[in-house]
Order: sequence, then structure tokens, then C-alpha cells
Amino acid sequence: MHQRITLFTGKNPYVADEGVFLDELRRHVRFHVEHCSVYALLLKKSSFTPEQVAREEDVHRIPPLTTLYLKRNRLLSMPERKLLLQATSSGTRGSVSRIGFDCSSMLLGLAMAARMFAYHGLISLRPAHYIILGYEPSKQSDLGAMKSAYGASWFAPALSRTYALKSTKNGYVENQAGVKNALLRIAKSNAPVRFIGFPAYFAFLLRELEKDGIALALNPHSRVLLGGGWKQFTSEAFTLEQLQTMVKRHLGIPKERIHEFFSAAEHPLAYCKCSRGHFHIPAYSRVIIRDTHSLESLAFGEAGLLNFVSPLVKSMPLVSVMTDDLATLHEGETCGCGIQTPYFVPLGRAGVRSIQTCSAVIAERGGEMRGK
Ligand SMILES: [Zn+2]
Repeated sequence: MHQRITLFTGKNPYVADEGVFLDELRRHVRFHVEHCSVYALLLKKSSFTPEQVAREEDVHRIPPLTTLYLKRNRLLSMPERKLLLQATSSGTRGSVSRIGFDCSSMLLGLAMAARMFAYHGLISLRPAHYIILGYEPSKQSDLGAMKSAYGASWFAPALSRTYALKSTKNGYVENQAGVKNALLRIAKSNAPVRFIGFPAYFAFLLRELEKDGIALALNPHSRVLLGGGWKQFTSEAFTLEQLQTMVKRHLGIPKERIHEFFSAAEHPLAYCKCSRGHFHIPAYSRVIIRDTHSLESLAFGEAGLLNFVSPLVKSMPLVSVMTDDLATLHEGETCGCGIQTPYFVPLGRAGVRSIQTCSAVIAERGGEMRGK
């Protein structure tokens, strides 16, 4: 247990101890094999045993579960009653993943996130107003994006919280006008403002300020934290450089104080962009890029499906999760920011055809399995 805590909460999240990671990974796979019969069967059909992961280069051998498979099959390694926190994916394609966390995974996840935020200088004792460009917490909703945005609003004491999506008796309603009014009001207080949430809502707010010719000079300790929908930038004519220019012009916040995060409901770890704009991989996870057809692991620089590996969650076998995002992987030194671990560059969603191909390959390899 001690080794597990050290792996996830080391002071520098990017200093990796390969031996400790592989030890924990094998132990973690064994745990899920013992506690989740469907997962055990899946690994057996792939003729995989944890002992096959002897070196770093073997991590790709762990059979991945696709996010699509996890949306259709709820795999548990603990009784439902032990799950203290539930989070669902946003389900832009109609189906959602329901992820459950037991007490130890939840506490470890919180400690891990706090370490990562502290490393990137995001924890402050200076009280701030929060503009949350996402969902207001509600008892009716388990959205992971809502919980992570709300969680991030604890990293500096909150003077106020205003939400772009307000919870009402009839569900969520957009509150863009309320956000703008709140911003104009709190800008006069001279306390820092922290913007957290979806890039699309943030872009909308910036356009509103542009339309009205508003140029605020917010407290220099203000920050922008964006995640959970960065892809929307690529579909809009809105580059990162344009975003940085607009943030400086309309809010007075320099680009060094804009932070981008990457996460997935089925892989609840936060990846934070470095000073050069790259998502480096922390000590407690690995990224494999797989060919969209053969699922073989690809070399640095080659584009394929983004597959995350981490021994964080004990309640569900989310050891190796293949997303439907395309990405490339690069050697850490090529970034130049000082962080030595490799980094990945997300390239957007893979086409439906690629995903179906992947699912077909997985079904072929492991057989179709449903339920526990
Ligand atoms: Zn870097």
C-alpha cells in the first residue's frame, strides 16, 4: 500500500521509477483478475498473464478495454455498495460510461490531483472568484466533468462560484448572460478570477466581450483552466494563439496563466500541459498509441488510437483503456520544457469506422462478453 501511495503522490509527478510502476501494475492486474470474472475471462482468452509485463516495453501487452466496451458493459471488481462516488461521461454519442470509485481509489485520486496541481503552481491560498464554464453541481447528475470542475474550484479559496450551465428543476439551462454579468461585477473587486471548464463556453464568453468592446484588466493572479472539450477548438476557427490573444486583450491574463487539461471518464487522471504546450505522462501512467486496424503498438511520432494504462482504480478494471481519440507519442526530451517523460499530442476523434474496426478486432481476440 505504501508503494502505491508513493507512486501516485510523489512530489514531482514526472519523476518515474519504472520498477515501482511495473510492480504496481502487475499487482493491480492480479487484483482485478481475482475480483472481476469477466475481466479474468477476457485476459485468459487473450492468453495474457501479469507476469508477461516484465519490462516497460511489455506494458502494451495488457489487453485494453475500449471506452465503447466500457459504455456497454459495467465491469466491477468490488460490490456496488462499496462505491462512494459515481461519475458518468458526458455521452455526446448517446451512450455513457458509469464509473464508480471506492474509498481508497477516490482518496488516492484526490491526493494525486492535488500533487499535479501543486507541481503546475495551481494551488493558492489567495481567495478567488470562480467562473465555472460548465455544469453546476446537482444531486440529479453524476457527470464527471461537473465533479472535476467543481473539485478544481477548491484549489484556491472560493469567494464566489458562477456557472455557465445552471441546474434547475427542469435540467440544465445555459447561463451565458449571467456569467458575463457576474464577471463584470467581480472584475471591480480586484480579487483574482479563475475560469474553469469547457473551452467552447470560454470561447463564447470571449466573443461576447469582443462584441461589446470590453477589455478588463483582471487581478494578475487570475487563471484560466480549460479541459473536457478542447477538441471543439479544432472544429471552430479558433486557434490556441487566437485564444491567448483574446484572453490577454479582454481579460488581461497572460498566456502563461492559461492551463489546459486532458482527461477521460474511463481514465480519471488529469494530464496538464507543460510550459511548451505538451501533455507529459506522469510516473503513475503510460500511454500507448495503437494502429487503428491491427491494434499493434506504434513507434514515437506515429498516429493511432490513444490507450492509457494506470493502476489507479481498484473498483473497476480500468487498467488499460483505449479511447476513441487519435494521438501521437513523443520522447520527452524533444519538448525542451525540462520534463523528461514522453508526451502525447491529441489529434481529435477517430472516425466511427475506425472504432468499429477496433471493436471487431477486440471481439475477435477476446470474444464478446457482457455483464459480470
Ligand atoms: Zn514539455
